[in-house]
Amino acid sequence: MDDHGLQLLDELVKSKVNELRAIIPADSQSRGSTLFPLLRRLIDATEVERLDVLKDLSNASDITRSVLGRKLLRYNQKLDVLHMLAADYVADVDRRDIPVGLLCLIDTLIDDLLPNPADPLVHLVPDRMYSTLTLTQLAASLLNDSSLVASAGPIVFNLPALDPANALLSPILAHEVGHTVVQERKLLNQLTQTVDLGQIDAIFKRCLAKDPKADPSRWKGQLGSWISELLCDALATALTGPSFLYASATFLPAPSGGGLGSHPFPAERVRFTLSQLDSFGWQGYLDTHSAMVTDWLRTLESNRPSIPSPEEEFLTESVALMESAIASIAAQHVVSRLDVSDYSKCSAELCELFEAGIPPSRLQHGVPTPWQLILCGWEVALQRHGNSSRSLGQAVSDRAFNAFLIKGIELVRITQLWDAA
Ligand SMILES: [Zn+2]
Repeated sequence: MDDHGLQLLDELVKSKVNELRAIIPADSQSRGSTLFPLLRRLIDATEVERLDVLKDLSNASDITRSVLGRKLLRYNQKLDVLHMLAADYVADVDRRDIPVGLLCLIDTLIDDLLPNPADPLVHLVPDRMYSTLTLTQLAASLLNDSSLVASAGPIVFNLPALDPANALLSPILAHEVGHTVVQERKLLNQLTQTVDLGQIDAIFKRCLAKDPKADPSRWKGQLGSWISELLCDALATALTGPSFLYASATFLPAPSGGGLGSHPFPAERVRFTLSQLDSFGWQGYLDTHSAMVTDWLRTLESNRPSIPSPEEEFLTESVALMESAIASIAAQHVVSRLDVSDYSKCSAELCELFEAGIPPSRLQHGVPTPWQLILCGWEVALQRHGNSSRSLGQAVSDRAFNAFLIKGIELVRITQLWDAA
């Protein structure tokens, strides 16, 4: 690389560093503000790297100058990533346009699922989609510093912009937080130590032999993705109970066939969730409170095409072998599982309050948990709308009722904090 190119790149890196420094506010104690020191750390590291390059440039050979030029190009790209992070998330720190109950629900999810403390940032996205992004993990890969992964830092909750506070769909957020749990707790490693890998390998070889054009590494990658998704479903089911079944059946939605990709087919996921709920003792509840919906969901998988491709055969047979291990590993990592007998102690009183339009705080059996409240919300909403498959859609689109539930979560959280003080 010639001197003109090197000078331009050096100037770009220097000016981008200065531009970013100028827009990052001073440290504060606000919600989400751990973003600021994290961004500053990333910017400082890039500046140090630039100064190192400048030092080495003074008496560098042509070959070394090319290497240093490539380094500056990399720093330039890294700063563009930081620009994106700052542009996307700085304004989300301490945002006040989100209902307090939603913030309480997010705090509950962090307490219930994540091994390390986290500082949530709520970000609204144009897609009707939920996801999370652990910025410390991203920073760890940018800085090549794995110690950052376990540090308390910002985690972004991406929520659909037009309906961010949908209480009945909140179990989907539990699935999304599950992805961080799978990574931080290394649940895929735990699973491979539990299952019989010889059996999986036999299925792999048998199915591969049926497809000469198959890409074996792609198949393995797909299996890893499918297992991660099912682990997240299992975490969300253990934490939120039947609410996850109703939320995922509505959100996926359950009848969609789904192509062969990174996620298991919706029917497969619904069947897996039903089987996990049955094993936790929810079958009687489902038959009593949502018989029509549950009966229909139980038929979904049998309606799938009966001749799978070799890849599909490999994936479905492999996950079937691992199913009970997936469910039990997930259950071990949920701080407090939604328990059917605990729920039944408070559900009648909760339902009565809901029917009267009174957000609950303290009940005869103590303060309900947010997930007891959400399940009761589903119970009341399904009953109100006729307990059919259509009722699932009507329940999530009932904005007034979802706002009422979010208010209830706020009151429940305040009562919990009051009692703990
Ligand atoms: Zn997922």
